[in-house]
Amino acid sequence: MKDKISKTETEWRAEMSPEQYRVCREKGTEPPFSGSYWNHHEQGQYRCSACGAPLFSSETKFDSGTGWPSFYAPATPDAVAETVDHSHGMTRTEALCSRCGAHLGHVFPDGPAPTGQRYCINSLSLNFDKP
Ligand code: FE
Repeated sequence: MKDKISKTETEWRAEMSPEQYRVCREKGTEPPFSGSYWNHHEQGQYRCSACGAPLFSSETKFDSGTGWPSFYAPATPDAVAETVDHSHGMTRTEALCSRCGAHLGHVFPDGPAPTGQRYCINSLSLNFDKP
Protein backbone atom coordinates (compact mmCIF):
# COMPACT_ATOMS: atom_id res chain seq x y z
CA MET A 1 0.00 0.00 0.00
CA LYS A 2 1.17 3.50 -0.78
CA ASP A 3 1.28 6.43 1.67
CA LYS A 4 1.95 4.38 4.78
CA ILE A 5 1.52 6.27 8.03
CA SER A 6 4.27 6.33 10.61
CA LYS A 7 3.97 8.10 13.96
CA THR A 8 5.78 7.89 17.26
CA GLU A 9 4.14 6.05 20.13
CA THR A 10 3.77 9.42 21.86
CA GLU A 11 1.82 10.73 18.88
CA TRP A 12 -0.40 7.64 18.68
CA ARG A 13 -1.08 7.70 22.40
CA ALA A 14 -2.10 11.37 22.25
CA GLU A 15 -4.86 10.70 19.71
CA MET A 16 -6.31 7.46 21.08
CA SER A 17 -8.33 6.45 24.08
CA PRO A 18 -6.34 4.28 26.52
CA GLU A 19 -8.41 1.22 25.50
CA GLN A 20 -7.86 1.87 21.80
CA TYR A 21 -4.13 2.36 22.34
CA ARG A 22 -3.87 -0.90 24.26
CA VAL A 23 -5.44 -2.82 21.36
CA CYS A 24 -4.06 -0.96 18.33
CA ARG A 25 -0.52 -0.28 19.49
CA GLU A 26 0.07 -2.83 22.26
CA LYS A 27 -1.75 -5.71 20.55
CA GLY A 28 -4.32 -6.12 23.29
CA THR A 29 -7.69 -7.82 22.93
CA GLU A 30 -11.02 -6.37 23.96
CA PRO A 31 -13.23 -8.69 26.03
CA PRO A 32 -15.65 -10.69 23.84
CA PHE A 33 -19.19 -9.31 23.51
CA SER A 34 -17.94 -5.95 24.83
CA GLY A 35 -17.24 -3.97 21.66
CA SER A 36 -19.44 -1.78 19.49
CA TYR A 37 -19.51 -4.00 16.41
CA TRP A 38 -19.76 -7.72 17.22
CA ASN A 39 -23.56 -7.41 16.99
CA HIS A 40 -23.67 -4.60 14.44
CA HIS A 41 -25.54 -5.29 11.20
CA GLU A 42 -25.74 -2.02 9.26
CA GLN A 43 -24.54 -1.81 5.67
CA GLY A 44 -21.37 0.17 5.25
CA GLN A 45 -17.62 0.30 5.57
CA TYR A 46 -15.39 -0.47 8.54
CA ARG A 47 -12.29 1.73 8.68
CA CYS A 48 -9.13 1.59 10.74
CA SER A 49 -9.82 3.48 13.96
CA ALA A 50 -6.22 4.71 13.98
CA CYS A 51 -5.79 6.02 10.42
CA GLY A 52 -9.15 5.78 8.63
CA ALA A 53 -8.07 3.31 5.95
CA PRO A 54 -10.98 1.19 4.63
CA LEU A 55 -10.46 -2.32 6.03
CA PHE A 56 -13.68 -4.35 5.79
CA SER A 57 -17.08 -4.12 4.14
CA SER A 58 -20.30 -5.13 5.88
CA GLU A 59 -20.79 -7.38 2.83
CA THR A 60 -18.23 -9.83 4.22
CA LYS A 61 -19.27 -9.61 7.89
CA PHE A 62 -20.72 -12.74 9.45
CA ASP A 63 -21.91 -13.87 12.85
CA SER A 64 -19.09 -16.00 14.25
CA GLY A 65 -20.55 -16.36 17.74
CA THR A 66 -17.18 -15.34 19.21
CA GLY A 67 -18.19 -11.89 20.47
CA TRP A 68 -15.84 -10.10 18.08
CA PRO A 69 -16.74 -8.62 14.70
CA SER A 70 -15.81 -11.21 12.10
CA PHE A 71 -15.27 -10.95 8.37
CA TYR A 72 -14.36 -13.50 5.71
CA ALA A 73 -12.29 -11.08 3.61
CA PRO A 74 -10.66 -7.65 3.77
CA ALA A 75 -12.06 -4.72 1.77
CA THR A 76 -9.23 -4.98 -0.72
CA PRO A 77 -6.48 -7.60 -1.02
CA ASP A 78 -3.80 -5.24 0.34
CA ALA A 79 -5.84 -3.48 3.06
CA VAL A 80 -4.88 -5.92 5.80
CA ALA A 81 -1.34 -7.15 6.43
CA GLU A 82 -0.73 -10.53 8.02
CA THR A 83 2.16 -11.72 10.14
CA VAL A 84 2.95 -14.73 12.31
CA ASP A 85 2.29 -14.15 16.02
CA HIS A 86 3.86 -16.52 18.56
CA SER A 87 2.52 -14.76 21.67
CA HIS A 88 0.65 -16.54 24.48
CA GLY A 89 2.15 -19.93 23.58
CA MET A 90 0.19 -20.13 20.32
CA THR A 91 1.03 -19.70 16.69
CA ARG A 92 -1.53 -17.42 15.14
CA THR A 93 -1.79 -15.09 12.19
CA GLU A 94 -1.97 -11.49 13.29
CA ALA A 95 -3.98 -8.99 11.21
CA LEU A 96 -2.70 -5.43 10.96
CA CYS A 97 -3.73 -2.29 9.13
CA SER A 98 -1.46 -2.15 6.07
CA ARG A 99 -1.34 1.61 6.16
CA CYS A 100 -0.52 2.40 9.80
CA GLY A 101 0.41 -0.92 11.37
CA ALA A 102 -2.42 -0.90 13.92
CA HIS A 103 -3.13 -4.29 15.44
CA LEU A 104 -6.59 -5.43 14.32
CA GLY A 105 -6.93 -9.00 15.57
CA HIS A 106 -6.18 -12.44 14.15
CA VAL A 107 -7.03 -14.52 11.10
CA PHE A 108 -8.15 -18.15 11.45
CA PRO A 109 -8.69 -20.74 8.70
CA ASP A 110 -12.17 -21.71 9.91
CA GLY A 111 -14.30 -19.05 8.24
CA PRO A 112 -17.22 -19.47 5.87
CA ALA A 113 -17.23 -19.68 2.07
CA PRO A 114 -16.06 -18.28 -0.23
CA THR A 115 -12.65 -17.74 1.44
CA GLY A 116 -12.72 -20.06 4.45
CA GLN A 117 -10.98 -17.30 6.40
CA ARG A 118 -12.17 -15.71 9.63
CA TYR A 119 -10.81 -12.24 10.36
CA CYS A 120 -11.50 -11.92 14.08
CA ILE A 121 -11.22 -8.18 14.71
CA ASN A 122 -11.42 -5.93 17.76
CA SER A 123 -14.20 -3.34 17.59
CA LEU A 124 -11.73 -0.87 19.10
CA SER A 125 -9.63 -1.14 15.94
CA LEU A 126 -12.59 -0.20 13.73
CA ASN A 127 -14.83 2.77 13.00
CA PHE A 128 -18.03 2.12 11.10
CA ASP A 129 -18.83 4.41 8.21
CA LYS A 130 -22.24 4.51 6.55
CA PRO A 131 -22.23 4.76 2.76
FE1 FE B 1 -4.63 2.12 10.06
